[in-house]
Amino acid sequence: MGTQPPRPRRVPVRTCIACRKTEGKRALHRFVRTASGVELDPGGKEAGRGAYLCAELDCWQTALQRNLLGRALRCEISAEDIQRMETHMKKLAPSAPAIS
Ligand SMILES: [Zn+2]
Repeated sequence: MGTQPPRPRRVPVRTCIACRKTEGKRALHRFVRTASGVELDPGGKEAGRGAYLCAELDCWQTALQRNLLGRALRCEISAEDIQRMETHMKKLAPSAPAIS
């Protein structure tokens, strides 16, 4: 392929699945697909397919409403998964309205 310009720093960068903003992976919340559903992975260490969301409440709502998480993780998002995400969202922004 073509030549790529050298990067000044090798910081792992991830993309928010809702707004497509790229951030260092520590600034994003990682979700991982597990046998029991989609879970937040605070340490970013769980094995499995992961998806990232930035700390913007809008992104979480967009991701749930448009099923971006399900598409990114290639799985069905269950009602329990959505509830779990809403619980996390309330920690981010206690005044946020519920999605469901
Ligand atoms: Zn975002």
